[in-house]
Amino acid sequence: MEGILKELEDIVGRRYVSASPEEKYIYSRDQGLQEPHDPDAVVLPGSTEEVQAVIRLANRERVPVVPMGGGLVLSGLTIPQKGGIVLDMKRMNRIIEVNETSRYAVVEGGVSQGVLKAYLERRHPGLKHSLPDAPPVATIAGNVAIHGSGHLSQSEGGFHSEMVTGLEAVLPTGEAVRLGSCSTVPGWFSRAPLPDLAGLFLGWNGTTGIITKIGIKLFPKPKMEDILVYMTGSVDILPDLIYRITGTEMAEDMVAAISPKPDWLRGFPILLITVTANSEEEMAMKVGIIRESVRHYYQTMESGFMPVPPYMKSQFLGAPLKDLSKFADVMKGGGFEYVGSIMPVEKLPGACSAGLDIAEKHRVTCSMGARVIGRGHCMMFFNAYAFNRADEDNMARSALALEETNRATLELGGIPWKAEAPGQQDILRKMEPGTIQLMNRIRSLLDPNGIMNPGNWEAR
Ligand SMILES: Cc1cc2nc3c(=O)[nH]c(=O)nc-3n(C[C@H](O)[C@H](O)[C@H](O)COP(=O)(O)OP(=O)(O)OC[C@H]3O[C@@H](n4cnc5c(N)ncnc54)[C@H](O)[C@@H]3O)c2cc1C
Repeated sequence: MEGILKELEDIVGRRYVSASPEEKYIYSRDQGLQEPHDPDAVVLPGSTEEVQAVIRLANRERVPVVPMGGGLVLSGLTIPQKGGIVLDMKRMNRIIEVNETSRYAVVEGGVSQGVLKAYLERRHPGLKHSLPDAPPVATIAGNVAIHGSGHLSQSEGGFHSEMVTGLEAVLPTGEAVRLGSCSTVPGWFSRAPLPDLAGLFLGWNGTTGIITKIGIKLFPKPKMEDILVYMTGSVDILPDLIYRITGTEMAEDMVAAISPKPDWLRGFPILLITVTANSEEEMAMKVGIIRESVRHYYQTMESGFMPVPPYMKSQFLGAPLKDLSKFADVMKGGGFEYVGSIMPVEKLPGACSAGLDIAEKHRVTCSMGARVIGRGHCMMFFNAYAFNRADEDNMARSALALEETNRATLELGGIPWKAEAPGQQDILRKMEPGTIQLMNRIRSLLDPNGIMNPGNWEAR
């Protein structure tokens, strides 16, 4: 690597290349349960041209490249399984354009959720983007590269990848390409009506290239928000509750949760429904319509809306939801990983009971829940395992629980989301051979030397 390190320094500058043991240690692991693996170098490019030059060099030398944003994916997708270069995108943090009228922003590939949020609050207070509940340092590109979702789950298609209006990407052979309207005319307003090549970079876990710029939809930011909390003793009614409430099209976000924290909610399924409005009248109308849609349940069964005092509402409102980090650290000791499964809403009760069985069998702490995507078109069901890194037995049991959850998800008819490498193998074993062949053909066409995030999405 010595000659390569020198060349890398010539491209991005000495400050932005490191092969020191300390940096390698930090970039060799994440908060989850996947085995650490050292990179050979960490590189922070500052522009698309620098990304291109790094990739050309890596391609020439057959050195693996792992793109990284916030490194918060938790499932090891930024761990360099085969060594090589971790390409940390955080220096590419410029917001290039905000189009107020057509409601989109164009940002560089390392812009974090927190930076865009703060920028919009300061300069475009009437607009917002959909944020995941991940810590704010998570990047917009890293999130769409895995089909993330967030607090505007009821908008558009629900997934953040559906909110992408255009991409600039550097291919594994070093060419930069633009996809969407920006490939043809100046604006980054839409992927339609062109062939949808952006899909080559969405959901591929950074195995097809580096996203260097991204167009993302912005949405009107209503003046007020409120939270409705529906509590029930039975998970069985949740799918129908979700069906009825999404049918009103009055909510902005909807999350079902069964969580060990806060203590007073332990074990109770709750539905958190976020509603936004521009006036008290609009809010009252929306809340009224939602309440009416589930009247049948709260009149006849032991369930209903919980009165939430104002000081408690703040725990459920705002993005990212700060209390989620508390669940992540419920065991103390800094370990956290979750199986997020994309599955139909009607599978929610089955997923809950499978999750409880797995948690009991392996004696692990598990919080569960589901973010409802779109108008109930599917959900991201999470089984979140917090563990203590200093406790090997706790880690081993959590790893078994995680593996079993992946398999249970597929058996239930869902697909593990942002699956770690072994989970990807579980998915590929169930996938139609024709689909796998197509994925492989695309990969080898784009990446003839197999340098991009190797070890991921590889059918064995
Ligand atoms: C407490 C907590 C709550 C969370 N809640 C949510 C949630 O509500 N919704 C949600 O979607 N996620 C959530 N997550 C998961 C995850 O943190 C987010 O999805 C996050 O947005 C990932 O972004 P990142 O920048 O950290 O990606 P990284 O971890 O850096 O990368 C993710 C993947 O994208 C690839 N990648 C990164 N940058 C690029 C690029 N520029 N070009 C090509 N490929 C790239 C990487 O190689 C990797 O495969 C949560 C995590 C935590 C810890």
